[in-house]
Amino acid sequence: MEKPYIGRFAPTPTGKLHRGSLVAALASYCEAKKNNGQWLLRIEDLDPPREVKGASQSFIDTLTKLGFQLNQKAIYQSNKTRQHAYQKALNQLIQEGHTYYCSCSRSELKNTNIKDHKCRNKKSTPQKPYSINLKASDCIIKFKDRIQGNYIKNLLNDCGDCVLQRKDGLFSYQLAVVVDDSFQKVTDIVRGIDLIDSTPWQIYLNSLLNYPQPSYAHIPILVNKTGQKLSKQTFAKEIDTEKPLEILVNAYNLLLQNSFITTPKTLHEFWNKAISQWNINKLDNIQSIQV
Ligand code: GLU
Repeated sequence: MEKPYIGRFAPTPTGKLHRGSLVAALASYCEAKKNNGQWLLRIEDLDPPREVKGASQSFIDTLTKLGFQLNQKAIYQSNKTRQHAYQKALNQLIQEGHTYYCSCSRSELKNTNIKDHKCRNKKSTPQKPYSINLKASDCIIKFKDRIQGNYIKNLLNDCGDCVLQRKDGLFSYQLAVVVDDSFQKVTDIVRGIDLIDSTPWQIYLNSLLNYPQPSYAHIPILVNKTGQKLSKQTFAKEIDTEKPLEILVNAYNLLLQNSFITTPKTLHEFWNKAISQWNINKLDNIQSIQV
């Protein structure tokens, strides 16, 4: 029997949905539906100081207005149960010796070669506030990305260590994302290529925590004329849901799916055509798309 497909969209509420995040939602949705799969939404609200008020709810409202259908209720990383799950996974990693405590400042770390980082071999907990970091092992991590092809890195030399819990006590994206992808039984991750460099840590964490390895497809990011990624920092405009069909057709065409022979007249027609014509391989080896 074929493995059921479970895909997801996992936005961070540091701004409202814009064209860049919409294409990630659309690609993961079409790929899930093309594979008769489920599509889940996870709000990655791990960092309250950086959160924009109302952004989480506006993701849900905008996606709903555009006709995305969720197979389950959205989950929130700020939720107590999720926070306990991150703590539990972190405790396991600490107990099994995969972490170290670090109270170094950014400037202290700047010119330190990872292998010479003194905190890596200390056992005691520092007096000053400290982060808990993953101790990368000297191993090769490779995977075949469904869009970008073979990807291979030495975890220690190419990626280094990563933070699992910050000095201020907040759990990191790298830790929470693997705990939640496993919790939500995600089988297929479709997301922007700006996250491909995080994937080796996530694969490594999955193996340490005995989680299944999902498959990965990293789609190109949208960039402006000067080559910068469309994001809140580059003032990407919020999606205007007044003209949902226009917005969706535009996003679909940005994903190089070729125009519809006749422009869909209703959302229902858009989704039927968008899913049946969807071919992720049209994005093969493409890393950025200029808008
Ligand atoms: N929350 C991340 C973002 O908004 C995406 C995480 C992921 O898809 O793994 O960039």
